[in-house]
Amino acid sequence: MIQAPRGTFDILPESAQQRKLVEAEADRILGAAGYRRIETPIFEATELFARGVGETTDIVQKEMYTFDDGGGRSLTLRPEGTAPVCRAYLEHGMRKLAQPVKLWYLGPFFRAEAPQRGRYREFWQVGAEALGSEAPETDAELIVLLADLLEALGVKGTRLRLSSLGTPDTRAEYREELQGFLRAHEGELAEEVRNRIDVNPMRAFDSSDPGTRAVMRDAPKLLDRLDPDDAEHFARVRGLLDDAGLSYELDPTLVRGMDYYTRTVFEFTSDELGAQSGVGGGGRYDGLIELIDGPPTPAAGWAAGVERMLLAAREPPQAPDLVDLFVAFASDATEASERGFELARNARRAGLQAQLELAGRSLKGQLRHGDRIGARYVAIIGDNGLARLKNMESGDEHDTDLGDVIPEILRSGTLS
Ligand code: AMP
Repeated sequence: MIQAPRGTFDILPESAQQRKLVEAEADRILGAAGYRRIETPIFEATELFARGVGETTDIVQKEMYTFDDGGGRSLTLRPEGTAPVCRAYLEHGMRKLAQPVKLWYLGPFFRAEAPQRGRYREFWQVGAEALGSEAPETDAELIVLLADLLEALGVKGTRLRLSSLGTPDTRAEYREELQGFLRAHEGELAEEVRNRIDVNPMRAFDSSDPGTRAVMRDAPKLLDRLDPDDAEHFARVRGLLDDAGLSYELDPTLVRGMDYYTRTVFEFTSDELGAQSGVGGGGRYDGLIELIDGPPTPAAGWAAGVERMLLAAREPPQAPDLVDLFVAFASDATEASERGFELARNARRAGLQAQLELAGRSLKGQLRHGDRIGARYVAIIGDNGLARLKNMESGDEHDTDLGDVIPEILRSGTLS
């Protein structure tokens, strides 16, 4: 039997209902702050991600679904949404609009990762980006909006980690300093940490090895090396979050999977999730638009995983499907079938939820089906232009002209 590819999933009707809620809440919360919906293509020129996300990142090196479009152009299924939104911003001259341009999106993304609970190869993200503002208020507003979205969706056990990465220059200098520090303590470090001093010195902060942990307590911290401007910017962001009553943990070791981040970075995790605890995160990316040949443009944003938010959320009450009318048949005469078809269509046009018998059930079977789908009324079409209208709640039934069925149901009020 052919199955869905590893790391992908079907969205069945029950979960489609839940996901509609995510969209509605994102629209409400982000819309109220002036963010407008944007959607970009599912695939883009590979170069956009190679340059935007960064050649040395795991995403670009290992996780992209890249293919030749047949004409010698390399395309990639989008692994993230920020670089595409920046491309669209440039392509459509949004620099000329009042800044910042605030946009949000919701859709599928693709990464060739090892699948596990909460980690898929096709997953959905809702994201928000504010392009053209350097103000710390922008960073703080974005963080607060994500907090509001998580709260509205009932995501449990959330924590916010926050840091600042400064500029790429500061980071490069800091990296060298940290490498020097690690080399000076090489003998006290775990082997895996020692082996990664050149490629990924920051990993040393995540080690669970007691010797390494003892060394790292005295390691230099990037947050202590920020330029005065970056430090001031970060202090403002923190002040605004404090004023908003949003608690966070300063985590100077917070690293994110893309190279483009500058200054503020943050991540929300949920204790409800296992190893894949990140529900959403983002930060400032003042250099990204230049990387894709635009003018210097400060910007910030975040993305949150739809599946992870739902995994970590309390179950929303499931609204039952609404059916006002089920059209059944006393016989299989063609004329009755045509009248019934028309009745169902007219009922929908009148604003009712109406379904038609489509499976050739016996009359008894049709009534049982009407009951199962929760229909308020069943109209049994006869051969004579009349229908037997049965109120499924009270059990009352009477014969009526076909033309009176819809007015009678409308008089009783609709569900929708
Ligand atoms: P990122 O774009 O890596 O910053 O991820 C932002 C959010 O997207 C994460 O916090 C997750 O909630 C979600 N996410 C990222 N990668 C995956 C994945 N492979 N499967 C499911 N969700 C993901």
